[in-house]
Amino acid sequence: MLLAMSQAATATPKETRPTPISRVEKRRRAQADTRPRVTLSFYRYVRIVDPVAFQERLQAAWSEFGCMGRIYVASEGINAQMNVPKVHFEAFDTWTQSQPELAGVPYKIAVEEGDEVSFYKLAIKVKDKIVADGLDDDSFDVTDTGEYLTAAEINQYFDNPDAVIVDMRNSYESEVGHFEGAITPNVETFRDELMITPQTLKIHKNKKIALYCTGGIRCEKASAWLKHNGYAHVKHLKGGIIDYAHQVKAQGLENKFRGKNFVFDSRLGERVGTDIISTCHLCRVNKSDTHYHCLNQICSTFYIGCDNCIKRRAGYCSRRCQLVNKLPAKQKKRMARFYNLRIRPLRKFKKMRLG
Ligand SMILES: [Zn+2]
Ligand SMILES: [Zn+2]
Repeated sequence: MLLAMSQAATATPKETRPTPISRVEKRRRAQADTRPRVTLSFYRYVRIVDPVAFQERLQAAWSEFGCMGRIYVASEGINAQMNVPKVHFEAFDTWTQSQPELAGVPYKIAVEEGDEVSFYKLAIKVKDKIVADGLDDDSFDVTDTGEYLTAAEINQYFDNPDAVIVDMRNSYESEVGHFEGAITPNVETFRDELMITPQTLKIHKNKKIALYCTGGIRCEKASAWLKHNGYAHVKHLKGGIIDYAHQVKAQGLENKFRGKNFVFDSRLGERVGTDIISTCHLCRVNKSDTHYHCLNQICSTFYIGCDNCIKRRAGYCSRRCQLVNKLPAKQKKRMARFYNLRIRPLRKFKKMRLG
């Protein structure tokens, strides 16, 4: 859309240029669109010759269908998290499956829709990679991925002393939900996880290793990376936690997932296990698995809060942030400038990444 807008901007004389729609207005319009939607995600590693042309093709067709979401396109493939109005789902599906790059691609449909709309705009971006993994793809065989595991197959890994299950997601994701007994590395990015995993798993080198992530995309790269690092028995959960939840339900299997599956849209999570496994970051007492961004924009810390603390702190992560926000605008601006220049570079921010 950005691309289309910038092209329009160069082609249209200044005085007839349409007024750009603000973010708030976009959100308001999206919220006003109350049509029932299907939230889905999919990815495919496929050679895309001209990512910009592909992006434009998707943008034109999917906006017609009223789709919203966050989609990354690169010469290595596509990674899409989006929603589609139910009334247009069939048309969307027919069109999408008719594209040579996407023919036969399976969708992972969200486990629950929730009250919150999953996305408020359609952003299709051309990137170098569809997942930020920090790896040099020419340095190893990225196509030598591990075999897939179904839900029934990964269930056999639990209680097997010769098997380990590894969570390939970031710590803020595994904190609210993970597989029973899984190794959950304390990392903030997938890049960091790939850096440390070969070392972390060293003591399990001869064991059967099962990797999992949200929808399966991260494990494609991670399994090839571990194999390259000498791990012979690496497999990964096909379709990730999202598909695991569907398979468990459809086949009446035992659900080994505890808590919530963190997702990268406005819902921030969907319930897979019935239990709440994490604790509020503010009081450290009450159980909660709901994430919030601190309302103080200078801070915007991503944290887990319980109902009590959210009420008590009015949505701020601390008393300090609550007070800072009451300061006059001029003073806040000065603080923001100081913060951006001096504090932010020192601070490691938790980044939300697609996966
Ligand atoms: Zn609390
Ligand atoms: Zn804060």
